Amino acid sequence: MNNPISIAIHGGAGTILRSSMSPEKEAAYNAALSLALDAGYSALEKGLSALDAVEIAVCSLEDSPLFNAGRGAVFTHEGTHEMDASIMEGANRMGGAVTTIHGIKNPVKLARLVMEQTEHVFLAGEGAMQFAKEQGIALEPDAYFHDELRYQQWQESLKSDVVQLDHSPLKENKFGTVGAVALDQFGNLAAATSTGGMTNKKFGRVGDSPMLGAGNYANNKTCAVSCTGSGEFFIRAVVAYDVSCLMEYKGYTLAQACREVVQNRLMEINGDGGLIAVDAQGNVCLEFNTDGMYRGMKKSTGESEIAIY
Ligand code: ASP
Repeated sequence: MNNPISIAIHGGAGTILRSSMSPEKEAAYNAALSLALDAGYSALEKGLSALDAVEIAVCSLEDSPLFNAGRGAVFTHEGTHEMDASIMEGANRMGGAVTTIHGIKNPVKLARLVMEQTEHVFLAGEGAMQFAKEQGIALEPDAYFHDELRYQQWQESLKSDVVQLDHSPLKENKFGTVGAVALDQFGNLAAATSTGGMTNKKFGRVGDSPMLGAGNYANNKTCAVSCTGSGEFFIRAVVAYDVSCLMEYKGYTLAQACREVVQNRLMEINGDGGLIAVDAQGNVCLEFNTDGMYRGMKKSTGESEIAIY
């Protein structure tokens, strides 16, 4: 088949400055992004679905300690790791999501099981954990999720009682949530997003990442979107669905819709972050209103990119 295929991934947006990045660290991020992008793209090339491709790419990012998802999830106020994830496909707009789960190696896989093995869309906390155990999903001990840098961030945040965004000096904003969006050769779109949320979060705080329509959305008529940024603003602006709506109801192109939402509507309420999106023709948009966003994209036209700033 010669239909177009496209994939895009992100590993979080924020105050990511070249001046505070060492060449080694930059190389490590680029390598982790390339690994995830290639894994997702070759799945599409082999004829797997967009849903498979986004799950594969997000699992690869969840397995890296560099990003705030899965293995690299940040510490909560209590010193635990509480993770959120969601997945959605654009043909029937089926979706699955989990929140405040712990000890799960790949939260995105659990989100997909919610979508495919239950009549529900969103499972939370201990109920989601019970479902995970029934499904025999891979668990990891606390030590797997321990990262010294994130432990130090948590200690710093505890002193000031600040709820802190990922891998950032105090009061700067960096987010390490991961996500992927894809178009497969059958014309189907899918999106997946996974996160550890915010360092030192408490009271069962949940961000936009597991909320369909806010941090993650897919609809074959329009686009697939995965977001990263200050989750509270993304929830209030219903960001992912808003991009789709501008295309569906106002006839915007993917690029126009992404720009309007990220550069205007989010900025109006001081929301910082970004998103990745792909449309049904395979166009890709990587839009952010922060200094940087870990990102990558690859298309069957031959275009590909890995970038940070
Ligand atoms: N959006 C995520 C949240 O608020 C954070 C991130 O993008 O890193 O939980």
